[in-house]
Parts: sequence; C-alpha cells; structure tokens
Amino acid sequence: MATKDNQIKCSFCGRDKQDTQILIAGQSGHICDQCIAQATTIVKEELNAKNNSSLTHALNLLKPHEIKRHLDEYVIGQDEAKKVLAVAVYNHYKRIAQKANRPKGEEVEIEKSNIIMVGETGTGKTLLARTIAKMLNVPFCIADATVLTEAGYVGEDVESVLSRLLQAADYDVASAERGIVFIDEIDKIARKSDNPSITRDVSGEGVQQGLLKLLEGATVNVPPQGGRKHPEQKMIQVDTRNILFICGGAFDGIDKKIARRMQSQTLGFTASQQNEVIDKNNLLQYILPQDLKAFGLIPELIGRLPVLTYLCPLDLEILRRILTEPKNALIKQYTRLFEMDNVKISFDKNVFDFIVEKAIDFKLGARGLRSICEAIMTDAMFEIPSDAKIKQFHITLEYAQEKLNKSKISKLKVA
Ligand code: ADP
Repeated sequence: MATKDNQIKCSFCGRDKQDTQILIAGQSGHICDQCIAQATTIVKEELNAKNNSSLTHALNLLKPHEIKRHLDEYVIGQDEAKKVLAVAVYNHYKRIAQKANRPKGEEVEIEKSNIIMVGETGTGKTLLARTIAKMLNVPFCIADATVLTEAGYVGEDVESVLSRLLQAADYDVASAERGIVFIDEIDKIARKSDNPSITRDVSGEGVQQGLLKLLEGATVNVPPQGGRKHPEQKMIQVDTRNILFICGGAFDGIDKKIARRMQSQTLGFTASQQNEVIDKNNLLQYILPQDLKAFGLIPELIGRLPVLTYLCPLDLEILRRILTEPKNALIKQYTRLFEMDNVKISFDKNVFDFIVEKAIDFKLGARGLRSICEAIMTDAMFEIPSDAKIKQFHITLEYAQEKLNKSKISKLKVA
C-alpha cells in the first residue's frame, strides 16, 4: 500500500492521484471518478438487461388469460375492460421485449398501446391500472389531469406527471422508463368549445397538445421534485417510449353524444341492421373514438390512445360482491383487523344488503362502502381491543342501523 499522497493510484485504471478529480479509498485499494462513472454505466446496462429479461419471463407466465384471472381476484365485474386491458398490457410488454431482443434489420415495429378507459367515477378504473402495475411489479403513479396547464401558466407542467413516476421508482430512471402512468380525469382537459377563440385554452387543448409527445414517446426533461421547471433545478432525462399510459375519465354527458351518433347512424341503416337491440341504460359500451372527439379531445391525442374501453356502472349485485369477494374486500379486512385482537367477527347476512343499499342511496358508489362500514364498525374497534374477555362479536342488522344513524354520514341527504 502506498503511503504518500503522490504515490496513490487508482487500483482499476492505474491513474495517479494527481490525474484524477476524486480518488476514493477502499479497504485495500482506490477507485477514481472516471472508473466509478464507467462502472455505473456497466451496472445500469446490466440491471436494465436483467429487468428486461425478468419482464420477458413474467410475460411467459402471464398470458392475457392469466392477467385477466389476476384482475378477477381484485376487481369485480368489468369483464370487457379487463379483457381489453389484458391484451393491451400483454402487447405493450411484448413490444418492450421485442425491442430489447430485436435482430438488426427486422422491420415490424410494434406500436405503443396506450389505453383510455371511460366510466363513471368509482367504477374501478384506477383499481384496474394499479392492480396491473402491482402484478407486473413495475413503478406506478397516478396523475391528475386537472392540475396540468400549458407550460408557462399557473399550474403544473405536463412533465410533472413523470416526476411522480420517478418518485415511485425511487429515482431509478431505467425502472421508471418501463412503468405505468395513470392519468385520471382526462375528460377535464377537453377542449372548452369547438370554436377556436382568442382566449387561449391553457388547461384544456394546451395540455392535450403538451401530452402528445409524452404519450407517443420522447426524451423529456423532468424536474425531479415535480412542480415548475426551475433554472436551478437539475433535470432528469426520461425516455417515455416504453412507459404505458392509461388514461381514465368519467366523460359526463358522453352518453348523449353516443346516442345522437347512433340515432343518425340508424337512419341510414338497412332494415336488417335496425333489428339490433340497443341497451339504452349502458350506452358507454358503444363508445367509439369519434365520440371522444365530439366531447372535446383532439384527434392527435385520441390517435395516441389507440386502445379504448369502458366500465359499466355498479349495480346492487356488483356492490354486494365488492364488499365481500375481492382478495382485499372490506369485510375481509375488518375480519383480519379483529383477528389480530383474537376476536372473531360475524355478520347477519342482511347487514351487507343494508350497507349496499345505503351506498346506493347516498350515491357514493363503491367508495361509499368504506365510509359506511367505518361508521358501523368504529365503536366496536374502539371498545373491543381493551376488553380481553370478548372473543366473538356478531353484528346484527339492528346494530348496523343504530350505528349508522348515529354517524355523520347518515346526515347525507339522499338526492
Ligand atoms: P375510479 O378510478 O373509476 O374513479 P377507483 O378505481 O378509484 O374508481 O375505485 C374506488 C374504490 O372503489 C376502489 O378503491 C375499490 O375499493 C372500489 N371499487 C370500485 N370498483 C370496483 C370493482 N369493480 N371491484 C372491486 N372494487 C371496486
């Protein structure tokens, strides 16, 4: 080992200390800044290859059927959306695997399958996207389109969407570049009117324009902490070519546009086609890209979201199943919470019907199930852990009704 400063060398490349900017000492050697930079690149490339191969491996196991089966464990109903999503996700990751292993000269380049889901709020759009990301073990983030504005205006730049993904990936850029971004409330950035006016539409069409390059695939400068681009803030470059974008929105009123289109189509139909029965209660199932255009999305954006699917409204029967069936169903969660205090809970069967009916009365959808259950269970969850004698607890309909009537949520007026 060298003893004098000027005799110290990098143990990897042999550079003298004075030829390096930084020389870091280890237990039995040294490493210079240039070797560290080189080693970092090698590690990144190796990890990238490893992650790609583990994704390919996952795809070998997860065919669209398996993806749907996995979604079935967490999301009730919505079969059409699950099927469409399963295929889109499968193709997306196949595309990444193909790019990594593509022999030179192969011509077929598979295009991105970004997705747009249309459905009332609380029907499971976010849940579907989140469940897929978890299954594939890729970084996932939710971005809200309503806070975005065109660059230079008050609000967040579209690049901030990727800051969230970077945070979810612990700033591992390579991993973020294979992640999934869920952009919620995409309908809120619809063009405000069909007539281009003098006033700029900075939170509508301006944002749609801004999103185009992100969705299509580009190298984007991302502020690591989100928010506005700031001259002092060091940007991180993120390539969005392999990021899967899933957009969701309620598109209130789009059913009328669908109905109008279908009506005008029927006028031109031949007699045999007119016989098709149209389900007027769920018009979303007939949605086409042109309805999104009529709603105010620009054609370029629609073109970059080639996979379009819809979610059905949740009826009594589905809500009842949501309460008890999914892997992490609310009732299973409460049962587990009490089990941790060695208490076995049980319910009268009609308690579940009561909860579901209330959720429908309050027009809270699946989100409301949780608030109603909390209102019913809070007193028991407060008292029982301190009473070691209680080993069982049965919730009757009367108990549930009494607790709910006492709670704040019951003050919600039925619309
Ligand atoms: P959206 O994104 O469509 O507004 P979410 O996916 O956030 O709705 O759903 C809100 C909550 O409602 C979820 O956390 C989930 O617990 C429940 N939920 C909604 N739809 C379903 C469903 N089809 N199956 C199971 N749970 C659901």
